[in-house]
Amino acid sequence: LNPGLSALPTTIFTVMSALAAEHGAINLGQGFPDTEGPAELVAEAARTLSDPDLGEARNQYPPLTGLPVLREAVAAANRRFHGLEIDPAREVIVTSGATEALAASLAALVAPGDEVVVIEPLYDTYLPTLRLLGATPRLVRLEPPDWRLPVAALEAAFGPKTKALLFNSPMNPTGKVFTREELAVLAGLLERHDAYAVCDEVYEHLVFGAARHIPLMTLPGMRHRAIRIGSAGKTFSFTGWKVGYVTADASLAPTIAKAHQNLTFTTAPNLQRATALGLGLDDAYFAQLAATLAARRDRLAAGLRALGLDVLGCDGSYFLIADISAHLRPGEDDLAFCQRMTREARVTAIPLSAFYDGATSGLEGRCVRFAFCKRERVLDEAVSRLHAWL
Ligand code: PMP
Ligand code: GLN
Repeated sequence: LNPGLSALPTTIFTVMSALAAEHGAINLGQGFPDTEGPAELVAEAARTLSDPDLGEARNQYPPLTGLPVLREAVAAANRRFHGLEIDPAREVIVTSGATEALAASLAALVAPGDEVVVIEPLYDTYLPTLRLLGATPRLVRLEPPDWRLPVAALEAAFGPKTKALLFNSPMNPTGKVFTREELAVLAGLLERHDAYAVCDEVYEHLVFGAARHIPLMTLPGMRHRAIRIGSAGKTFSFTGWKVGYVTADASLAPTIAKAHQNLTFTTAPNLQRATALGLGLDDAYFAQLAATLAARRDRLAAGLRALGLDVLGCDGSYFLIADISAHLRPGEDDLAFCQRMTREARVTAIPLSAFYDGATSGLEGRCVRFAFCKRERVLDEAVSRLHAWL
């Protein structure tokens, strides 16, 4: 068997969700909303499954790069939200989730032996995917509490073998939204080393307050170097749908499509149609989504702070990080803490160390991630359980 897979532990999200279920815990671990997205999308997905007018297009293979209606909607969203002019016929590829989009984009770029600079803390598919492709990850760490970009370490990580940068903004698990100045540093390195960027932007619409999501692709010189990845799961609160989309220059997209044709080839047509409808919703939908999540972030943050926990800043995503140093037992790490909290307090979170590859001996080993994409009474109940426990 391939040790790259057989030796891989089961993902922390599955492990902690199973433990939460076993103990009847409130699951603030795995990031998924406990309310549904827009009803008109569900209705569109249901209607088009049996629409007689669609004929074979109803339930047979959609085109390899996605239904035109969705590719056009992705291009229009790129224009509306970011001023990007994208050719829907040649520069958009629909995938089965952002997870596949990431794998296909990386497969298109890297050959065995290539190096990919990856920013930690990182989403858990990044390293296994890179290693299966034979690429060598060069890790650069962001550290709590402020997640500042370590420019010297980044410069040192880029070299003659660098093929790409893989990075995520708005960022899971930190809630960091990279600023234009930080993106300019990344863009400069990409130009200097003639490298590409795979930009995981699944939380692009989940940005709060004064923070703004700026796609790296919009910076000067990046139109041809940055590959932008979005997800209907996050944008419309249907994480089970697994509809993703890649926006990439016409010089890159055909090779990403080759990877996609060999991974899944296509994605359920009714979910593509519903996602197209979603991307066309008015600005009020997107503003409301962000406002609702910001209120949930604030509610959970206030509740955790009232318990004496230090809660770190969060400008985007579904996630808040809390410092649990004061509550660790001697010898206990953040994973053991999350397991104990699940069993005893019946509240589940994800240990921050799970998002780092190596040892976590600093503050990054004494924090946990809470998902706040839950109804307010669920967040309140979690806080009151923690209050009784801590
Ligand atoms: N990237 C990040 C940073 C994520 O948090 C997730 C979450 N699920 C994904 C990618 C995967 O998205 P999808 O469910 O669309 O595959
Ligand atoms: N993206 C989700 C999270 O970070 C989990 C996705 C999954 O369970 N694979 O919680």
